[in-house]
Amino acid sequence: MEFTDVRGERVPKVGLGTWRLEGEECFRTVRTALELGYRHVDTAQAYDNERQVGRALAASSVDRDDAFLTTKVWPGYTDREEVVRSAAASCSRLGVESVDLLLIHWPNPLASTAEVMAGLNDCRDRGLTRHVGVSNFSTSQLRTARAASDAPVFTDQVQFHPFRPQRDLRAYCRAHDVLLTAYSPLAHGGVLRDDVLREVGVRYDKSPAQVALRWAVQQEGVVAVPKASSETHLRENLDVFDFELSEAEMVRIERPSRLRTGASMLRGRFGV
Ligand code: NAP
Repeated sequence: MEFTDVRGERVPKVGLGTWRLEGEECFRTVRTALELGYRHVDTAQAYDNERQVGRALAASSVDRDDAFLTTKVWPGYTDREEVVRSAAASCSRLGVESVDLLLIHWPNPLASTAEVMAGLNDCRDRGLTRHVGVSNFSTSQLRTARAASDAPVFTDQVQFHPFRPQRDLRAYCRAHDVLLTAYSPLAHGGVLRDDVLREVGVRYDKSPAQVALRWAVQQEGVVAVPKASSETHLRENLDVFDFELSEAEMVRIERPSRLRTGASMLRGRFGV
C-alpha cells in the first residue's frame, strides 16, 4: 500500500467504498478487505451499513489505530447540535470512540454552511472525529466551507474518474493542501469496457479497472475509494502500485466528458 501525506496524516491511497454493501455481505467484504491489506474504509450514515462496517473492523486482526475510517453526516442534519448527535450515533453504530474523518455528505442548499461546519468542528473538539471534511462540494462551495471552518477541511470527496477529472477542484485542492478523495473511481463499473484503458493496460498486464485506479492515485493529493465485493476485485484494486503510467498515458486517459460520465455511470449501475 502507498500513502498520501496530508496535514501530517498518512492516508492509504486505495480505500474500500461500501455504498450498496449491506448486511452480511458488507460484513464479509469489509473483513476480507482488511485481511487482504485494506486500511481505509469509507462509509456513510446514508449507506445503512455502519454497524456491519464496525463489526468487520472489530472482527478483523487490524488494530483500530491502523485503519483510516471515514463516515458522512446525512445532509438533512442542518443544525449544529443535530450534526454532533448524529456523529455520536455513527460512532456508536461503528463501535469506535472516534472516526478518522467525518464529512458532510452533500451540500444542502437549505442549510447554513457555517452552522454545519460549526457542527463538524464541535465533533472534532469532542473527540468524535480526528478530521473534518466535505463531499460533493464544488470549488466555490469548498472555498466557503474552508472559510467557515476553524479546523482545516481535510478532504473533498467527489466523483472522480477519467471522464470526470475535476480539473478546477483538483488544482484548488493542491493549492490549499486539501485531499481529493475519488469516489466512483471506476465510474460505477462504467470504465471497464473503455478501449483506451484496455489498450494501456495491455502494456502493463493490468485490467482497465487497475489502469483507472492507477490514473487516479498517481496524481498528487488524490486517494480513491473503489467499491468491490468479490475477492478478485478487492485484490485487483490493491494491486496498482507496481507500475507507473507515463505522462503521455496520463493525458490520454483523462477525457472529460459529461456524455461519457452519464453513460458510463448508467452502464455501470444498470449493467447495460
Ligand atoms: P465504483 O467504485 O466506481 O465501481 C464499483 C463497481 O465496479 C462495482 O460494480 C464493482 O463490482 C466493480 N468493480 C470493482 N472493482 C473491480 C475490478 N477490479 N474489476 C471489475 N469490476 C470492478 O463505484 P461506486 O460504488 O459508485 O463508488 C465507490 C465508493 O465511493 C462507494 O462505495 C462509496 O463509498 C463512495 N461514494 C461516495 C459518494 C458520495 O456522495 N460521497 C457517492 C458515490 C460513491 P463488484 O462489487 O461486483 O466487485
